[in-house]
Amino acid sequence: MSSSVSESQRIVLASDNRGKAREIQTMLASRAIRVLPQNAFAVASIEETAPTFVENALLKARNAARYTGLPALADDSGLEVEALAGAPGIHSARYAGGDADDQANTSKLLQALEGFEGEERGARFRCVLVFLRHPYDPSPLIVEGAWEGRITESPRGQGGFGYDPVFYLPDLDRTAAQLSAEEKNRLSHRGKALQQLIRRWRN
Ligand code: IMP
Repeated sequence: MSSSVSESQRIVLASDNRGKAREIQTMLASRAIRVLPQNAFAVASIEETAPTFVENALLKARNAARYTGLPALADDSGLEVEALAGAPGIHSARYAGGDADDQANTSKLLQALEGFEGEERGARFRCVLVFLRHPYDPSPLIVEGAWEGRITESPRGQGGFGYDPVFYLPDLDRTAAQLSAEEKNRLSHRGKALQQLIRRWRN
């Protein structure tokens, strides 16, 4: 297959995170690309053992492509907080431990930031997307997006997932969990990375 993705192309999405998968599927729906979650194929998820977002995304995409025989898209993302020297970073999903849920991770983050104020609570979400045409694709498509904000002192809002209720956007005076799905998809790290990927597919 060429570097473009034709209409009605089927691709597998290498993610078990339902929040992320929902966002990616919604954003690609209008492209008439059928994005099939890897759990539809019972793909065994692999451990994210690498120290960088891009390597972890490659591991996940290669695993899903190998297992399904389909082109694969993987996202690796996380939250970097200034005052914590970039933590939780690649460990964002399991910041409060292997079985931690969103609430446990968020509580741990708020505790770690006790005593920090204003600019010191600056943070950014990062997202790397990797697209592999096949498991041995020697030239993966790799795109990135970032989203700048600040960590609140307590959660606000019901939307989104993960750290959204504590990720405050000063320009909008709302947290990511207080945005509509459309607003978040337009502004977010993942949304920006996907917009780039779509441009690359088109070219
Ligand atoms: P991954 O599945 O290893 O990429 O983990 C990413 C983790 O980063 C998620 O489980 C969330 O905790 C966090 N994260 C990434 N993107 C977002 C987002 O858009 N909103 C809130 N949390 C996010």
